[in-house]
Amino acid sequence: MGFLLANRIPIRQASHQAGLRKACGLARDILLRTAEVVKAGVTTKEVDQFAASEIKASGCTSAFLGYRGFPGNICISMNEEIVHGIGGSRVISDGDVVKIDIGVFHDGWVGDNALTVPVGNVSPDVLRLLAATEESLHVAINHARDGEMLGTLCASVEEHVLKYGYTVVREFVGHGVGRKLHEEPQVPNYGTKGGRPRLKAGMALAIEPMVNLGTAKMRVLADGWTAVTQDRKPSAHYEHVVLVTTGEPEVLTWRDKMFPGGVASIG
Ligand code: MG
Repeated sequence: MGFLLANRIPIRQASHQAGLRKACGLARDILLRTAEVVKAGVTTKEVDQFAASEIKASGCTSAFLGYRGFPGNICISMNEEIVHGIGGSRVISDGDVVKIDIGVFHDGWVGDNALTVPVGNVSPDVLRLLAATEESLHVAINHARDGEMLGTLCASVEEHVLKYGYTVVREFVGHGVGRKLHEEPQVPNYGTKGGRPRLKAGMALAIEPMVNLGTAKMRVLADGWTAVTQDRKPSAHYEHVVLVTTGEPEVLTWRDKMFPGGVASIG
């Protein structure tokens, strides 16, 4: 992680917060509707196409399609695939875990969020991975406070999942979000407690733990995008956009609906 200067991180004033809040709420709604169609027998391409129609119907455009040449409307990644999977002919089966990551533009603002959908009879080991990963997201969110250090937030993700013997992916990180999909700062899922920069009210962070059951090591498939675990063991991914305020962290992509294996508690 490079040396980050806090003054490069955008501070969103109230009028801009409203635009970001709206985009994030739409991204959340599209994600939840898309998660409902993730079922055994459906191809990942069909899920991608469903999401594309939902994005359009919501007055949004995909923030991922065409990003550095990415060919999908959303990222859809199964089992050993960590992130950046592309919808295709792969058929979803009972026992799979499917990561859906949806980013949209609405009225010049970005909404970005992700979750992992367990399909049918998922093994208890993998359900525990999902639960711990979503817990780690909420542990990190609890650090997204005015005056807190970003390094402490980042370190809290790895510290939480290490308790279960899991590992965090190091090649991909969360990020500031607003006008562009990726803004300062980078938000790794590991860090040094107390490390700079200091968070300030008005910063918007996409926090997104990517947690592996086995090795932290990954490789990218021949499609140039899909990241998979080197040991082919499952990976889980959850993401929220959080606005730092002078009070409680505001989760702009908050979802009330939980999927089996996922929890919203502060672990
Ligand atoms: Mg993101």
